[in-house]
Amino acid sequence: MIPTLRYAGERVVVMGLGKSGLSAARSLRSSGAGVEVWDDQPASLAAGTAHGFAAFDGAGMNLNGVVALIWSPGVPHAYPQAHALAVKARAANLPLVCDVDLLLEAQTDAAVIAITGTNGKSTTTALTAHIFRHAGRVTEVGGNLGIPALDLEPLGRGGTYVLELSSYQLELVPHLACETAVLLNITPDHLDRHGGMDKYIAAKRRIFARQRHPRTAIIGVDDPHCRALYEALRSDGLHRVVPISVERAVGGGVYVTDGMLIDATGAAPSTIVDLRVAKSLPGAHNWQNAAAAAAVALAHGIPASAIAAGLKTFPGLSHRQELVAVVDHVSFINDSKATNADAAEKALRCYRNIYWIAGGQAKAGGIGSLAPLFAHIRHAFLIGEAAAAFAETLGGKVAFDLCRDMDAAIAAAGKMALADNQPGATVLLSPACASFDMFKDFEDRGNAFREAVLKLWPQTPRAPDAQSGDAQSGDSEPGRPRP
Ligand code: ADP
Repeated sequence: MIPTLRYAGERVVVMGLGKSGLSAARSLRSSGAGVEVWDDQPASLAAGTAHGFAAFDGAGMNLNGVVALIWSPGVPHAYPQAHALAVKARAANLPLVCDVDLLLEAQTDAAVIAITGTNGKSTTTALTAHIFRHAGRVTEVGGNLGIPALDLEPLGRGGTYVLELSSYQLELVPHLACETAVLLNITPDHLDRHGGMDKYIAAKRRIFARQRHPRTAIIGVDDPHCRALYEALRSDGLHRVVPISVERAVGGGVYVTDGMLIDATGAAPSTIVDLRVAKSLPGAHNWQNAAAAAAVALAHGIPASAIAAGLKTFPGLSHRQELVAVVDHVSFINDSKATNADAAEKALRCYRNIYWIAGGQAKAGGIGSLAPLFAHIRHAFLIGEAAAAFAETLGGKVAFDLCRDMDAAIAAAGKMALADNQPGATVLLSPACASFDMFKDFEDRGNAFREAVLKLWPQTPRAPDAQSGDAQSGDSEPGRPRP
């Protein structure tokens, strides 16, 4: 646990009592702060007070003497509606901060690497930490991924924090001053929470705002929003800007050509590794993540050979194209994190002869955009609320079955894939939907898939990665409002 001694003897309020809020409350209390907790949902508040924390008066909202308001990133504060407590705090000049900010304030001697982007944050964060650890660096990894920030270990000089930051968190970290900042990509997401595309981009841009020397800014330049930011940062002359691309060679950057990861940050471009041998990083989207992680490692003096070794040994994250089992010639892949068509597209692109398990709680836009990849699908197994709409889109183009539930879909898909005997056959759960019609969240859905596959076709299970869970509300599936 990270001590937050600056607040010893002070009055602080923790708003939002999910995993990260409770972790912050615990750290503050053990550091001697007078902690009050609040949550708009009575059940969550009761859970907080059951841990022995005093309840803040959320109706009276008396902020006299409060020196810090720790705000859970999952709770909207400005859009779509301003939250009354946030309005009151701002009027009193009390900034809203999240638990990551307390970590940054307390651990100023350690190096900080911050990673954001609309997609690929968790993979890039976990991969970067894996490369650093593999190279013998003392590293802690967290933020929006896995362990809440204040439950990490204190590091001090010589240590490195690798932090995943969602756009929600980037609005709440005034003390962010990282050596190395990564922005992978930007596509429209959560615009209602940010008040429009401009404000979403502005939140992402904050990652570069107060960087520490040598101010390394690593930016994917394959989308127009990030390209514009790249040009702006290059011309401000303050940053050391490193472009990332999987579409073209970029001078001074790190890029991927035909699967080869190229370091062009030095005098002459050199090959780091053939990414096609990095089995846990399939597809061009993962190559973008790999290029970004490699650029971070290069910026921190890790040699190319160690980066290559880290990329090849990365175990991957659960629920993101996670290989669960291989039965005869059939691979079973859990891509439960693919909660919309864009994410499912990434996985459908990677395989041929797919037995596709899809459906759940529908997202706007459906799966019409996936039509160019329908040829990769041998048969679809449709579940959940979206099944009928998906069936309509697939009708006449892809054979499908409507399945009662996940278990029925897995049994039918596995049976057909094993009987068909097609090369590279893949049973792929990549639902293109939210999970909430049938499961608690995407992790619950992915775990159900893994368990059912291993029950039907027992074998040595792959251990789920410890870093698979989101600690806080992230960019990809905000889902229901969190406490
Ligand atoms: P995040 O933490 O940003 O949600 P993850 O690493 O958890 O990202 O990946 C979630 C899903 O996003 C993956 O299953 C994949 O479908 C897609 N994805 C991963 N990396 C990228 C990328 N660089 N560009 C676009 N999509 C990606």
